[in-house]
Amino acid sequence: MNSFALADCSTVEAALSQLKDGAVVKAGGVDLLDRMKNGTDTPTRLINIRNISELRGIQSTPEGLTIGALTTLAEVADDPGVRSQYTVLSDACGQAATPHIRNMATLGGNLLQQLQCWYYRSPDFQCLRKGKEICFAFSGLNQYHAIMDYGGCPSVAPSSGAVALLALDASVELTSTAKGKRTVAIRDFYLHPDANPHRFHVMAADELLTSIHIPKPAPGTRSAYQKYGEKESHDWANADAGILLEMDGSLCRRAVVAMGAASPVVRRSREAEAALAGKPITPETARAAGQASMTGAMPLSMNAYKVQLFPVAIYRTILLAAGQMDRDPSAAG
Ligand SMILES: Cc1cc2nc3c(=O)[nH]c(=O)nc-3n(C[C@H](O)[C@H](O)[C@H](O)COP(=O)(O)OP(=O)(O)OC[C@H]3O[C@@H](n4cnc5c(N)ncnc54)[C@H](O)[C@@H]3O)c2cc1C
Ligand code: SF4
Repeated sequence: MNSFALADCSTVEAALSQLKDGAVVKAGGVDLLDRMKNGTDTPTRLINIRNISELRGIQSTPEGLTIGALTTLAEVADDPGVRSQYTVLSDACGQAATPHIRNMATLGGNLLQQLQCWYYRSPDFQCLRKGKEICFAFSGLNQYHAIMDYGGCPSVAPSSGAVALLALDASVELTSTAKGKRTVAIRDFYLHPDANPHRFHVMAADELLTSIHIPKPAPGTRSAYQKYGEKESHDWANADAGILLEMDGSLCRRAVVAMGAASPVVRRSREAEAALAGKPITPETARAAGQASMTGAMPLSMNAYKVQLFPVAIYRTILLAAGQMDRDPSAAG
């Protein structure tokens, strides 16, 4: 690891005043320190924001929920209000990584973690995302990579939290000294690699992600998240599903089907959602939605298994959200 200076900040103003000249923010440090230890990132100055207490906590308002960016994944997962009304988010945070990591990792950092593509994470490979014109995954080891919407970079969206927040139509608050505060919807936050291969999101270098806002779910909403992987725990998803169902009695008025490990940016499957809207939730409609979610899939040489795994993840998570199935013991988390 390279040597670096560390500025410990206890207020947003102090952190923002330090956020210049290539300084990098450290929240829980789980992702950032990994990148520094790998040698892919060599910042010379870190700003430790972990002790800014005003950026921590969960507030329920009549409009919905505001979560401070430094609230840990464990705190989100264990919050009774999140568990009862925003279950997709408590599931996603509670199944990410490991108990130790969830106690350290923050929700803001989870949304901002970088790609897990092993070529990207190695200092020995310089690919499209690092300013070159080549992707090693198309002809290399691509079993964990994307099966749809990938353009020039099939690395997948790594954040379970982002899948849940996309399903909940959430937004993030970004704060800078120059521009003050602005709010960006999660659906607009991440940049597709074809739009800009060198940036992952629209947040500027002088901005802090300060909070996450989630609108109150409509009456009759039920939701759930499940992820499936190679290991039972300690790993990112190979397929995941964030499901939100707005129910009118036994009919599904509106459905949201969000996926992370299918594509470089978290996505909604409009085809799967259409397969549920206006219908009762049954094993048949859930199965049809799972199949519809694979519309347009173009698996790579080593990941055709995902075309079978995603429909199962979506089918089982729809039934879990609807209260017709228990949490799948073969799901990871
Ligand atoms: C074994 C393992 C398994 C994992 N499995 C999963 C999984 O299943 N699902 C999942 O979602 N994640 C998983 N993770 C990733 C883990 O959840 C993230 O690394 C963690 O949430 C990052 O949060 P952090 O607070 O430590 O961020 P940091 O490492 O501190 O920061 C991450 C990035 O965001 C920037 N940053 C952080 N906070 C802010 C802020 N408020 N404003 C501006 N910039 C900021 C930092 O500069 C850095 O670039 C796994 C990690 C490991 C090691
Ligand atoms: S998948 Fe993306 S991050 Fe991985 S080698 Fe290809 S361009 Fe780089």
